[in-house]
Amino acid sequence: MDQRNSIVRADLLITGARIAEIGGSGQTADTVIDADGCAVIPGFVQTHIHLCQTIFRGAADDLALIDWLKQRVWPMEAAHTATSIAASACLGIAELIKGGTTCALTMETVNHTREVFKVVEETGFRATVGKCMMDKGAEAPPALQEQTANSIAESIALLEEWHGKADGRIRYCFAPRFAVSCTRELLEKVAELARARGVMVHTHASENRTECELVQDETGLRNITYLDSVGLTGRHVALAHCVHLSVDEIKTLKTTGTHVVHCPSSNLKLASGIAPIANLLEEGISVSLGADGAACNNRLDMFTEMRTAALLQKVLRGPEVLPASRVLRMATFDGAKALGLESEIGSIEIGKRADLALVRLERLHTTPARDVVSALVYSAEAGDVDTVVIDGRLVMRDRELLTINERETIQSARSEAEGLAADLRE
Ligand SMILES: [Zn+2]
Repeated sequence: MDQRNSIVRADLLITGARIAEIGGSGQTADTVIDADGCAVIPGFVQTHIHLCQTIFRGAADDLALIDWLKQRVWPMEAAHTATSIAASACLGIAELIKGGTTCALTMETVNHTREVFKVVEETGFRATVGKCMMDKGAEAPPALQEQTANSIAESIALLEEWHGKADGRIRYCFAPRFAVSCTRELLEKVAELARARGVMVHTHASENRTECELVQDETGLRNITYLDSVGLTGRHVALAHCVHLSVDEIKTLKTTGTHVVHCPSSNLKLASGIAPIANLLEEGISVSLGADGAACNNRLDMFTEMRTAALLQKVLRGPEVLPASRVLRMATFDGAKALGLESEIGSIEIGKRADLALVRLERLHTTPARDVVSALVYSAEAGDVDTVVIDGRLVMRDRELLTINERETIQSARSEAEGLAADLRE
């Protein structure tokens, strides 16, 4: 499957980390995987995730964004230890791989981001990771309140330690939480540093009406207009959500080439609203998909996001908008483009990195799979993913994780989640 979703029936040869042949000579490989009955797809690229929130699953339900942050998510992030965050990241990556996601853009919390990088390195996952930056807002717990200079210094130290590591599999991004939690000084400095260092910026924008009002009251500007004024738009910027946008803000996203990340399940569960994705795509704006965190979804499953994204736009604009092939491209190639990695991943082409998922389509709920793309977007589910390869390395085969001990991951996530809950009760 290439970036236009053309489908071929052929053998695929991987040499080292890259795709060497498609429909080639049938030369004998060291490892042969029978993909009969499966669709071999580019691994999903989720462009908005919070690995640190995976063990908050089920602990922050039924709230709107600002209360969700203040009452539940910030206190839990503040209580994280090095071991609890590592357990959370491992749980998240295990779930992502089991659902065919091979790459994620993830915003972590203020502290312990190094632990997340270590888990990404050990598990063989591909990720662009950023330490969350928060230098404003007295309502955040003290452990999440940073001095501007310290936030920047720590981000630069992580960038220098991790960006480009593991043969480019691990990358750094600046991750200011959102305009409400960051001073203008911090945002301007991030804009300048990201351009100077050639790394991307990952932040939240215009997710919720209250958030938009807070930014407008303080700056006199609409959220996206404000971000543009501090330099935080452009082809290296990914903005999660973009639910509430004015015509002028859409124009700004278009002219600057800023990437929008659509998180439909999160937007529904926090009752944030429905993002105008079909309109953005008609304007030629880049849109990719993410599950957001397990605290607000509560799954990290690209099949759920693809299906929900398509169904929501049909309710808004009619059944013909956002066909399955467009959604599948958002979940793969467009995600790679948002990360600036479209020449490396996001489609199955000779010379690209071998990031692949085999999805078994001989299931009751996918039969008959007369249109493979339709089956993938509307019928398939995470449990249909059989085998996953990242950077040429098998990380799951026959649904067995090969770089992660699944049982230990569940046990340690459960006990760390109980530990955090106990800390917060004291
Ligand atoms: Zn988020």
